[in-house]
Amino acid sequence: MKIIAHPDKPLLGAHTSTAGGLHNALIEGQEIGASTVQLFTANQRQWRRKPLKEEAIAEFFRIKEQTNLTYLMSHASYLINPGSPNRETLTKSRECLYQEIQDCISLGISFVNFHPGAALDTSKGQCLDTIIQSFLLTAPLFEQSPSLMVLLETTAGQGSLVGSSFEELAYLVNGLKNFVPIGVCLDTCHVFAAGYDISTPEGWNSVLNHFDSTIGLAYLRAFHLNDSVFPCGKNKDRHAPLGEGFIGLKCFEFLMNDPRTRIIPKYLETPGGPDLWQKEIRILKELA
Ligand SMILES: [Zn+2]
Ligand SMILES: [Zn+2]
Repeated sequence: MKIIAHPDKPLLGAHTSTAGGLHNALIEGQEIGASTVQLFTANQRQWRRKPLKEEAIAEFFRIKEQTNLTYLMSHASYLINPGSPNRETLTKSRECLYQEIQDCISLGISFVNFHPGAALDTSKGQCLDTIIQSFLLTAPLFEQSPSLMVLLETTAGQGSLVGSSFEELAYLVNGLKNFVPIGVCLDTCHVFAAGYDISTPEGWNSVLNHFDSTIGLAYLRAFHLNDSVFPCGKNKDRHAPLGEGFIGLKCFEFLMNDPRTRIIPKYLETPGGPDLWQKEIRILKELA
């Protein structure tokens, strides 16, 4: 299987708005000084997706060319639970996941990011196996598309969510890597909430070593950059602006400079909108 290469320069962006058209996320990205963006390709709170219109796809490609943004990432719908024990939810999730991947291929997107899933009233082991089966169903879509990669996002470990430990993510990656181009998107707020202390360079070194010995650093393909409103290990997913939470700026300085993380694309999901992201992109560049 062909896997997309790492970018040849560091890329920084944010989750920008598609209000008024998908291409507007790219324009907003350019306005805040980003070199990549994350976007929703459909309403993230609705099951039903409208098929993409030819004109919308053409406009997206035209603006993508114009803005020079690369390694675009789609964040899949929050409703999708590829590991659901409920048959009806699982069927809807699998349809939605399949369509999401199809749309990302149509739009020339590089990464499609999924929250792995929630076990609800079943075991985490069973949930993990269901997630693998859900993504295996999409394998034929990748035969013609070496340019899209599925990313599983690290979670904060709240409730019955799986994907808060590197061991669980390793299990998913190992079950899928021969069939689907797969990687991990590490969300700084989520891993911190899950108990991985990345607030210092020493902390990062031990977390990256742990990631490497469980999943393998080759599978680390993107970062969501967020500070955390809550201390380490509280399993609470509440993003804060960079430097204004319990993680602190040292963490992001490390990411911008360490040879293992420098070149991996980074997407802000901090609460505050375009003005904040513009400022944070500037700060991150200064830290590099
Ligand atoms: Zn995230
Ligand atoms: Zn989050």
